[in-house]
Amino acid sequence: MTKDDITGIKELLASKKNIVIVPHKNPDGDAIGSTLGLYHFLLKNNHKVHVIVPNDYPHFLKWIPGEEHIIKYDTNKTDSEALVGQADIIFTLDFNAFHRTGNMAPVLENSKALKIMIDHHQEPDNYATYTYSDVTMSSTCEMVYHFIDKLDLLEQIDKAIATCLYVGIMTDTGSFRFRSTTSKTHRVIAHLIDLGADNNTIHNNVYDTNSHNRLQLLGCALSNLEILPEYRTAYITISQNELNRYDYKKGYTEGIVNYALSLSNIIFAAIFIEDKKEGIIKISLRSKGSFSVNAFSRAHFNGGGHNNAAGGRSEVSLSKTVEKFTSILPTYKKDLNND
Ligand code: 5GP
Ligand code: MN
Repeated sequence: MTKDDITGIKELLASKKNIVIVPHKNPDGDAIGSTLGLYHFLLKNNHKVHVIVPNDYPHFLKWIPGEEHIIKYDTNKTDSEALVGQADIIFTLDFNAFHRTGNMAPVLENSKALKIMIDHHQEPDNYATYTYSDVTMSSTCEMVYHFIDKLDLLEQIDKAIATCLYVGIMTDTGSFRFRSTTSKTHRVIAHLIDLGADNNTIHNNVYDTNSHNRLQLLGCALSNLEILPEYRTAYITISQNELNRYDYKKGYTEGIVNYALSLSNIIFAAIFIEDKKEGIIKISLRSKGSFSVNAFSRAHFNGGGHNNAAGGRSEVSLSKTVEKFTSILPTYKKDLNND
């Protein structure tokens, strides 16, 4: 964002506006934390603000301040479309292209509202009047903090905003361990704690609300783990039947792929999750070091994301998807053994 952009945004926000904030489909901690953090901040500045999410989000995020006001597009299309229609400004957070909002994409494409993007994914589309994109950032939540700083309004960050932003920085950095975590990230986190974020409670709320079923599903996933040492790769599959067996709820599979990546000498991990309702296999890819799962997913699985964390999808069966995955690996053998 240039100085002129910041001046432009300051002028824009100087008078009361109708504002809608939208994150990507299947919102995660960063998507919910950043939209709600910005929501509280804009409310404080006397705007009319609504957070509209494309669809539901996991139980472990259903305590974040302001969460009860979130509108879900898929179950409330009429209100959502009316609010988008009335909006002067739409903030799009934690995604880089409209299609990442699923069924909401045409609603956003057709909207005449001014768009402001805040996002840390690679290769952002160019739809926004103001694009604040920084792929070196740990999270969109960290960027919302810097966004507020650029407006010279850091002193407005209160406990609610600090809590929201803490959640997304924590979840997108794997609790401050991924490479994207910088000393700057830690300074932001330290400041958020000073401003009222209760770090211990936040960790408990997000990570220690497992159900017995969720842990059983994790056990099942781990017993499906396959290791391909010659490619320093490990992958996990979960079928729809297995999800049903453990009464799958949104969020149950979050983070499971990291167990595959935690194996000694493994630098590339994948999880393939069958979704019969959508007719797809949902893929999460993770890596360590220079192997880019963003490039891999863009090339083979219709997805993208970051260098070390990306998502994708496949429209063939679970076994055919795994077959495709393992058949591609020889092409990358050198890259995978480089680090
Ligand atoms: P996850 O595996 O947790 O679904 O996604 C990992 C990261 O990649 C997240 O930052 C997510 O937003 C991003 N991501 C997931 N799926 C896609 C996709 O289809 N396209 C792009 N560009 N990013 C994705
Ligand atoms: Mn993010």
